Amino acid sequence: MSGQKAIFPKARALRSFWASRRHVVRGLGSHSASNPRVCVVGGGPAGFYTAQHLLKGRQDVEVDIYERLPVPFGLVRFGVAPDHPEVKNVISTFTQTARQARCGFYGNIHVGKDVSVDELLRAYHAVVLSYGAEGNRTMGIPGENLDGVYSAKDFVGWYNGLPSNRELNPRLDCETAVILGQGNVALDIARILLSPIDLLKKTDITQRSLDVLAHSKVRRVLIVGRRGPMQVACTIKEVREMVNLPDTRPEMLPAEFQGVTEALKVLPRPRKRLTELMARTALEAPTEEELERRRKASRVWGFRFFLSPLEVLATTSDPARVTGIRLAVNRLEGSGEGARAVPTGEVEDVACGLLISSIGYKSLAIDAAVPFDPRRAIVPNTMGRVQEAAGLYCSGWVKTGPVGVIATTMNNSFDTARTLMEDMDSGVLDVSAAKPGSLGVRPLLEERGVRPVTFSGWEKIDAEETRRGKADGKPREKLLDVGEMLHLSRT
Ligand code: FAD
Ligand code: NAP
Repeated sequence: MSGQKAIFPKARALRSFWASRRHVVRGLGSHSASNPRVCVVGGGPAGFYTAQHLLKGRQDVEVDIYERLPVPFGLVRFGVAPDHPEVKNVISTFTQTARQARCGFYGNIHVGKDVSVDELLRAYHAVVLSYGAEGNRTMGIPGENLDGVYSAKDFVGWYNGLPSNRELNPRLDCETAVILGQGNVALDIARILLSPIDLLKKTDITQRSLDVLAHSKVRRVLIVGRRGPMQVACTIKEVREMVNLPDTRPEMLPAEFQGVTEALKVLPRPRKRLTELMARTALEAPTEEELERRRKASRVWGFRFFLSPLEVLATTSDPARVTGIRLAVNRLEGSGEGARAVPTGEVEDVACGLLISSIGYKSLAIDAAVPFDPRRAIVPNTMGRVQEAAGLYCSGWVKTGPVGVIATTMNNSFDTARTLMEDMDSGVLDVSAAKPGSLGVRPLLEERGVRPVTFSGWEKIDAEETRRGKADGKPREKLLDVGEMLHLSRT
């Protein structure tokens, strides 16, 4: 992103931006100069939910959200699958929060680069780190960087219009794709790869990726897990969507479901229903109607189990390009969700021309002054209080690790907001001395030639995206270029 950051050397332009903000900056008008000022780093669900709960919980608090990109909403915009538009309804709640008089939004500010966390702590009474998980776990195996191997994070970013992934142009010129990992992200990707193009056309998937998907040769997607059917990380809704995906049929190995039917009765209810669905799909003879549907299907999907990645394979004639994946065959030690995969010593090679590693996202350190646990890849905290860092809090995926749906993120963000308000009430967090808030950050950004995008600037981008999408019957056509976003936000 750094290469795309717009630098405005003309101090005049910056002065006029801040002058135009002056009348809307809270604390200058009806609010007291000593109102508690909180800064939230990251404009995804965690950032917005933390802000919402703080604003609701205390009528005197003022919250500013600083977001790296010119556009808000984090993974709701850049992660959630385009064919799940209902999930994105949370955007209207976030918009209500951003429009409150006591809430400010400053996009295009990369904390840790444009402004440090220490600088924010000087300007605000408290800083909440809600910057998500911008990295991904790696497999740590030979060949991981071959052509045709992608992280789920990049692949998802590509079809969802994340500016840094817009040039990914994944190679979809092969018949079989393997996805490593069996979480909901893996299933999102499998669905996008196999969905009939007409189903995607009316979503907010980028036109650029739609064009590539329209020419895709991928006809078979295998979703590979290191453990068994009773340990998959995905949920029933997503498996059901695969089972019902038009023009596809399932391909499973009944042998991998050995013992599953017998174990069903002791499983807790959600896991039981999910496992039943998979076992039925793998083991039961289909009805005549279903058989007919499967016979006509031109695409195939399936789960494979008990397989861990060992090495990405290529041929000597084309050593740069993936041609398959070598997998260690595992057995399980223990039972239930905690069962461990143990290699048997056997290996299996699976041919594929596209390999997507979907084994989890990962938070990164953004500022050397902020505590970070590199092993767990989270900001170490106790109930949202960053350990040994007064005034610093965290929420969302950077607090918990990269797991949980938006509702989970909402709850843990509300918890952090509650912790912060308790600290204000008890005096653990001293809010008695006045702090300048965004007015303290302003000269630093001016000096560095960084110009924020306000929420009304985002609303101009939003209006343009909606306008461009309308012509094609899409909810929006996302802008892919940061420069264009910045330009539009200032028109
Ligand atoms: P994020 O959403 O990642 O937000 C973090 C924000 O911080 C981003 O906007 C980022 O740009 C910003 N940021 C990063 N670094 C900086 C910095 N240095 N300075 C300033 N800002 C910064 N949940 C569901 O309920 N339903 C779904 O369908 C669903 N689909 C998903 C699909 C995918 C591919 C993924 C990965 C997750 C999905 N989730 C879904 C889970 C959901 O997206 C997360 O629970 C939620 O987004 C986590 O919120 P967050 O705010 O912690 O992180
Ligand atoms: P996830 O749910 O944690 O799944 C990660 C998968 O990768 C698991 O199958 C895991 O297997 C596997 N894995 C991890 N390390 C591995 C390794 N070294 N080798 C092989 N396999 C490995 O993560 P995710 O799919 O990225 O999803 C993140 C969160 O977002 C989840 O909470 C998910 O529910 C949520 N999300 C929700 C939706 C939705 O609601 N529609 C959509 C997308 C994402 P093990 O179990 O063996 O570790």
